[in-house]
Amino acid sequence: MRGKLGFLVMAWVSCAVAGGVADVAVFAGATPAIEEPATRAQTRDYAALSKEIYAELIAFRSTADMPENVKAAAEAIQRRLIDAGFPAEDVQVVSPDPALGSVVARFRGQAPGGGPPTREPVMLMAHIDVVDALRSDWDFEPFELREIDGYFYGRGTEDNKAGIAHIVTSFIWMRDEGYVPDRDLIAVFTADEETSSDAIKYLVRERRDLVDSAFAINADAGGGELFDGEPNIFNVQAAEKIYVTFRFTATNPGGHSSRPRPDNAIYELTMALARLSEFTFPVDVGEVARLYFERSSSFTDGQAAVDMQAVAKDPPDGAAAARLSADSPFYNAILHTTCVATRLAAGHADNALPQTAEATVNCRVLPGQNPDDVEATLREVVGNDEIQITRVNTPTASDPSPLTEEIMGILEPIVEDMWPGVPIIPTMSPGATDGNYVRNAGIPVYGVAAIFGDPNDSRAHGQNERVGIKEYYDAQEFWYRLLKSLSGG
Ligand SMILES: [Zn+2]
Repeated sequence: MRGKLGFLVMAWVSCAVAGGVADVAVFAGATPAIEEPATRAQTRDYAALSKEIYAELIAFRSTADMPENVKAAAEAIQRRLIDAGFPAEDVQVVSPDPALGSVVARFRGQAPGGGPPTREPVMLMAHIDVVDALRSDWDFEPFELREIDGYFYGRGTEDNKAGIAHIVTSFIWMRDEGYVPDRDLIAVFTADEETSSDAIKYLVRERRDLVDSAFAINADAGGGELFDGEPNIFNVQAAEKIYVTFRFTATNPGGHSSRPRPDNAIYELTMALARLSEFTFPVDVGEVARLYFERSSSFTDGQAAVDMQAVAKDPPDGAAAARLSADSPFYNAILHTTCVATRLAAGHADNALPQTAEATVNCRVLPGQNPDDVEATLREVVGNDEIQITRVNTPTASDPSPLTEEIMGILEPIVEDMWPGVPIIPTMSPGATDGNYVRNAGIPVYGVAAIFGDPNDSRAHGQNERVGIKEYYDAQEFWYRLLKSLSGG
């Protein structure tokens, strides 16, 4: 393990050394005809380029409220790729909404003997937008890349600008080398993953011509887990739960609070919520969760290891599932559909009986289950026809993406070489990303951010977001190798 890591560190050191020669290359560049693409690749420092792109992206406050910044970031990415030699018609800023912009960049491939590629393209996904961050909540300016004690800090360092920097750098690196993939590689950087996901919906539904692919690799999910600072497991996100929100509404004629009546909208609603709080949806272990528990059990100790084996059996052991769920909200979320109260609003005056009481109940439905059945179950649990249950959003079903031999055959050698002995574990996200809509459109999606981190210290959407500097550069190396391996290199 040490030897392999040593090799990787050497690879980067040699890049850095090559970077030292870059001045000469720039100087030689005064006679452009001399500089062959391969020469440029040999003398350019791609770790430095990756960081430069990363820093440029972090500096855009690309939030939902500031679409002009999202668009400016999209145009900056477009400029980088065109400046690197990609034809302008292959690097588009696309959007149904002129105020926004998603980037679709196609690295054109060729069949090995020449001519159009015979293999279908692969889509590479990341998103440009970020959840906003306030200077007052952070220890420093969030929209500035900062290096402190082995970490890169800044909004979007994890979610999801590292992914864009890794893909863009790999594109430029391969192009500099004169590399020709044996299939098209299509980078898709969306504008609104954190809010509506309208950009990806538009691309897969209305602009399928631009993005149609055999499968997609998503930089916005999956990753590696560090245990005591050492790489422990490599997660591939192969499924996501379905997001559906309900509103529970209790109504009442109301009246003066000095003359209370037995029926009361707030009491009825809270009793319904109390029943919901005691209800658990049945255990359902799909293929991805089964593999996850089976593989995780081998590096877990004690009762938890035994329980993981037991839930991976068919049928899963109910008592084991209950113990795992009690120990971990994450295990609970991947073993069950969940519905939880998230917001509450009721009454209109301190001295009036409430006429309306409303609760928001957010459900995360296991893939393969039907949101209609979840709604029917909620009505049963509430057990009160006076409480109206309505849907706030239309759920998008998303079938799990099977971990095919092709995918494992590509990932396993790279992961084994870079992080020897670290197993690849398929995971299901309790949350949802743009990947959901791509799966729904019939394109399998695999989340492989490849940035290792402490699973108990994820700061995406939170304060002082960060990723390890070494882990960032390792992931850059991983993406470069992955894109080559996906395309015959
Ligand atoms: Zn994200």
